[in-house]
Amino acid sequence: MQIFVFFSCIYAKFLLILCHNFFVMTIQEYFAAHKARFMEEWASLIRIPSVSCQEEHKPDMLRCAERWKELLLAAGCQKAEVLPSKGNPFVYAEYTPLNSKLSTLNEPIPTVLVYAHYDVMPVEPLDQWKSDPWEPSIRDGRLYARGADDDKGQAMIQAKAFEYMAQTGQLNCNVKFIFEGEEEIGSPSLEAFLEEHKELLKADIILVSDTSMIGKETPSITTGLRGLAYWQIEVDGPNRDLHSGHFGGAVKNPVNALCEMLAKVVDQDGRITISGFYDDVLPIPEEERRMIAQIPFSQEKYNAAIDVDDVFGEAGYSTLERNSCRPSFDVCGIWGGYTGEGSKTVLPSKAFAKVSCRLVANQDHEKISRAFIDYMQSIAPKGVRVHVTPMHGGQGYVCPIDIPAYKAAEKGFEKAFGKRPLAARRGGSIPIIAAFEAILGCKTILMGFGLEQNAIHSPNESMDLEVWEKGIVAVTEFYKAFAG
Ligand SMILES: [Zn+2]
Repeated sequence: MQIFVFFSCIYAKFLLILCHNFFVMTIQEYFAAHKARFMEEWASLIRIPSVSCQEEHKPDMLRCAERWKELLLAAGCQKAEVLPSKGNPFVYAEYTPLNSKLSTLNEPIPTVLVYAHYDVMPVEPLDQWKSDPWEPSIRDGRLYARGADDDKGQAMIQAKAFEYMAQTGQLNCNVKFIFEGEEEIGSPSLEAFLEEHKELLKADIILVSDTSMIGKETPSITTGLRGLAYWQIEVDGPNRDLHSGHFGGAVKNPVNALCEMLAKVVDQDGRITISGFYDDVLPIPEEERRMIAQIPFSQEKYNAAIDVDDVFGEAGYSTLERNSCRPSFDVCGIWGGYTGEGSKTVLPSKAFAKVSCRLVANQDHEKISRAFIDYMQSIAPKGVRVHVTPMHGGQGYVCPIDIPAYKAAEKGFEKAFGKRPLAARRGGSIPIIAAFEAILGCKTILMGFGLEQNAIHSPNESMDLEVWEKGIVAVTEFYKAFAG
C-alpha cells in the first residue's frame, strides 16, 4: 500500500509538471494578451519628465521612482521600495521564487540583479520634435518620446520579461532590481549607495539593458568598454617670455620640449612606449577576433566619413580592434606662447598639454597614471621643468564570453532574433559597470536593445517596437537558460 502511495505521488507530480509545461502560456501569447497594458504602463513612465540635470524636475524624480515601485510590485516582486541617497532616490525591488525547481533539487538559487536608470536627458531644442516628447507617439512601427529607448523603454523590456517569468511560475532564480535616477549626470551617488547596500545588492550576475546592438539584423552584445586616464602637462622654461632673436637657439624652448616629449609616446608602429604599459593588457581571444571580423564595416566608407586618406594605429590590428580592444594615447589639446593675430617672435616661458589614454580591461588606470608621470619625467630634456597632474580616470571592463550568464544571454538573443549575437567591445566608457565589478564583485551582462537610429539624447528619440518585443523574448530566454 505504501509503495502504491509512493508511486502514485511521483506519478501525480510528474503529471503536474507535464501539465504545467503544457498549459503555460508562451511569451508570445502573454505579450499579445497584455500588450495594451504594457504600452499604457510604458506611457505612464514617459509622461513623468524625469530630467535629472534640471532643478525644476526634482519632484518628477521621486514621482518616477514611485511609479517604478508600483510597476515592479505589480509585475510580481514581493518587495519594492524607494530608497534615499545623497542625490535622487533609488528604486529597489526583489523577488524570490516560492518553489524553485533548483531548491527542490537542493541546488543553490542564483541571484540576478537588474540595473536600469529612470532619469532622462533634457528635451531641448523642443521645436525639433515632431511630437510631444512627454507623450508617446507611434509612427512607422516606432514609439517616439524622450526615454523611449534610454532607458525607460529598455527598462520596460527587463520588467516585462520578469513579469512573464514570475507570473507563469517559470523563474528559478532570485531577481533584484536597482533603478537609479542620476545616470545621465554621471551617477554621482551610485558608488556610495553600492557601498552602503552591498549586502542587499549581493548577486551572481548583473543584467543591464542600456546599450545598443550593431543593427536590427546584426544583434550583438556589448562585452567590453575602455577605461581612461587623463593628465595635464605643464613645461616650465625661462622665467619670462624671451625675444627669440636674442635667446633663440641658446635656451630650451618649453613648447619645443613638450612636442619632443609627446612625439616619443607613440612609436612608428603605433605602440605606446611608456614602460610597462602593455604588461596587464590581455590578448584578444581568437573567437572574439573572428566575431569582430564579421561586423559589417567598410574601411573606405570609414575614411570617407571622417575625410582622411588613411588611418593609423597599432600594427597587427584592424580598425575595429584598435578602437575597442586595444589601448590608445591622444593629445587632446596643446597650447603655449603666442597664438593671437599676426606674428610675434617669442620664446615662450611655458607650454601646456592635455593628454589621455583609453585603456582596456585589466589595465589599472592609477598604475598607468603613475607610469606615465614617471615616463614624462624620465624623458624631460635639460633646461625645463615638467609637471604632470592626473585629472581623472576610470577602469575598463570586459565580460568573458565563456561564462554561463553570457552563454544564457547569447541564447536569449539567438532565440529572439534568429541569429547568434556578435560579441562587440565598445571604445567608450561606462564607469558604473567598472564600479559594479569593484564594489559588488560581479560581472555585468549588457543585454542592450538600442539601435543607432533610436537617436537617444536627441530630438525624436524612438524605439523600434519589433525590437522591443524581441528584447522581452530575449530576456525571458536568458532566464530560462541561466536558471532553467
Ligand atoms: Zn542610458
